[in-house]
Amino acid sequence: MSTDRVQGADSFKVVKVLKFGGTSVGSADALERLVGILSAEAISSRPLLVVSALSGVTDWLHALEEETQAKRQQVWIRKLVRRHQTLSAEVLDHERHGRYLIRLAECIDELRDTVRQPPGPMRSHAIWASGEWMSAPLVALLLERHGVSSEWVDARRLIHVVESASGSWVVDRNKTRAQTESWYRRLPLGRVPVITGFLGAEDKGRVVTLGRGGSDYSASLIAEAVGASKFDRWTDVDGLYTADPRKDQQAGRFLYLLLEDATTWNEANQLGMHAHAFEPVLHACIPVHVRSTRNPQGDGTLILPARLPKRVEKDARELMSRTRAAT
Ligand code: ASP
Ligand code: MG
Repeated sequence: MSTDRVQGADSFKVVKVLKFGGTSVGSADALERLVGILSAEAISSRPLLVVSALSGVTDWLHALEEETQAKRQQVWIRKLVRRHQTLSAEVLDHERHGRYLIRLAECIDELRDTVRQPPGPMRSHAIWASGEWMSAPLVALLLERHGVSSEWVDARRLIHVVESASGSWVVDRNKTRAQTESWYRRLPLGRVPVITGFLGAEDKGRVVTLGRGGSDYSASLIAEAVGASKFDRWTDVDGLYTADPRKDQQAGRFLYLLLEDATTWNEANQLGMHAHAFEPVLHACIPVHVRSTRNPQGDGTLILPARLPKRVEKDARELMSRTRAAT
């Protein structure tokens, strides 16, 4: 029997899904902040991480996918290699950096093979997905370096996608829940998984991406499947605003939102997140907390379901009595 599975205090800890977007994994400074947040979280909860590709990388992969000239394709690939090599050298120790470079080389070999395939939707998905296949192993090795037992997880094992009658890809929520639950049950206690956002697999196991900004949807699906108590969405903006705060000085931050309202507004494209991002958490009544890695102590925006489920009610009551006591 693996000693990892020995039941300890860990088995009673609150389960949280933490999603880090591209800017929160895209530089050495951002990764340092991620480690700080995760180390603090791991003391009080059982965190599951979902990560995006490094900032800008998915855009590069789109450019690569559209490029027809072999020479220019190589330029994009070299750029990708350099970005990941440089960042990993900055944040990993010698031994782990070596391990990462092996993973990176595998990924790049696969990408080169994919790029040589004739154009078609499956070729495109496989190119776009490469960003998350390169970022998740880097984050897992970084956590390990900081004493957190961690492993990266390819979301093709968890998220199942089927083709709809109209030819678009949709997530099969039931199969996704079943696959994720069974994977999670076997995950050793104390091990922090770093899951690739943005992607899943179809029947034959081929990768399908979920659309731009899809990592939020991935995190939400995983939160639903594992029955998480909370979904923390970490970015570099400290919450949701009435307008883009970088462009509009008048934009006001929401302190609280009803998950039901957030879902409706997001579907009407008013929150700028992936169209389906809130569906799974709404279904499972899971609070979402939009927070900034630049200000981890800040309030952010808390998005609460109208009916709080039992498993989060106690925490919410404590929080409310604390704020009442403080006023
Ligand atoms: N990397 C993907 C994108 O840039 C998915 C995500 O970040 O959510 O759209
Ligand atoms: Mg992104």
